[in-house]
Amino acid sequence: MRGYRHVVGIMIMAAITCLSGCNHPFRPTQRVVVVTTLFPQYDFAKHIAGDYATVKLLVPPGVEPHHFEPTPKDIIQIQTADLFILTHPSMEPWAMKVADTLPKSVGVLNVSQGIRLSVDPDGDPDDGVPAGSVDPHVWLDPILAKKMVDNITIALCQRDPQHATIYQKNAANYIAKLDRLDRRFKRITSQSTSNTIVLGGHSAFGYFAKRYGIRVISPYHGFAPDAEPTPKNIASVISQLKSVHQQVVFYEELLDPKVAMILSRDTGATLRLLHGAHNVSKDEMDRHITYIDIMSKNADYLAEALHSCR
Ligand SMILES: [Zn+2]
Repeated sequence: MRGYRHVVGIMIMAAITCLSGCNHPFRPTQRVVVVTTLFPQYDFAKHIAGDYATVKLLVPPGVEPHHFEPTPKDIIQIQTADLFILTHPSMEPWAMKVADTLPKSVGVLNVSQGIRLSVDPDGDPDDGVPAGSVDPHVWLDPILAKKMVDNITIALCQRDPQHATIYQKNAANYIAKLDRLDRRFKRITSQSTSNTIVLGGHSAFGYFAKRYGIRVISPYHGFAPDAEPTPKNIASVISQLKSVHQQVVFYEELLDPKVAMILSRDTGATLRLLHGAHNVSKDEMDRHITYIDIMSKNADYLAEALHSCR
C-alpha cells in the first residue's frame, strides 16, 4: 500500500514537473530505501545495491555508536524505509524496540542472523560487564562479513525482485573483495614472527583475532567501550608489552586514546589506529572511505606490529 502511494506521489510530481515544461516522456522510477544503523552494513548495502537503492546511515559520522539513541527524525526515517538493517540487539538495544512498532511495509533485517555469536559467560563485575554479554562485532571478521553481505542481498532481492540479478552480481563481486582481504590477513599472520598485539581499546576484535590466531592484550574487558580499565590492568599490560617486545600500541576510532597513550608513553611503543569500522569520522565520510579501505589500512599496521610482510 505504501509502495502504491509512493508511485502515485511520484506520478503526480512528474506530472507537475512536465506541466512546467519538460520534453521527456514520463518514466516512473522507484528506488528502494534502506536505513542502516552502523557503517559496515551501510557500506555493504551501498555496494550491493549500486544505483537501485538509496542507502542511509542512521548514526551520524563521528558519533561513537555503542550508546547511540535515535531521534524522532531518525524513527520517521526508519518508518518510511523499505528495509531497516540492524547489527544485533546487543549492539543496538533500541533497534528491536523500534522494529516492533514499525508498519508492515518496512522489512527488518538483523544482519548478524545465521552467525554464531560469542558470549562472555562470566562477565567482569570489576569492570561492570554483565555475565552473558554478547559480542556484536562480527563485521571485523571478513568471513563473517560475507554472511552479512549474503543476508543483505537476500533482503534486497525480496524487497525488489526486479533487480535481483544485479544485486546478486554486485554481491558476488564484493564477496571476492572480502576473500582477497581474508587471504591478505592470513598471509600477514602466517609470515609473522609474533602473534600478539596490544590494544588500548575495547574488545571489538574478538572474532577477527580468533579467525587469524592473534592474541590481543588489552586493559579493557567487555564488548562496550564504557568501562574504564583499572590502574592494575594498565600496569599488567605495560609489563606484558615489555615482555613480548611489542613496538606498536593500537588505539580505536572515535574515542579518546588516553589509555593507549599511557601504554605508549610508558613503553616507547608507536601508536597506530586499529579501526573497528563501527562508524567513520566526518572527514572519512567526505572522502568516501569504504570498509575495504579501513580493513586494508588495518592490515598495513598489523603487518608492522607483527613484523610481517604487507
Ligand atoms: Zn564496539
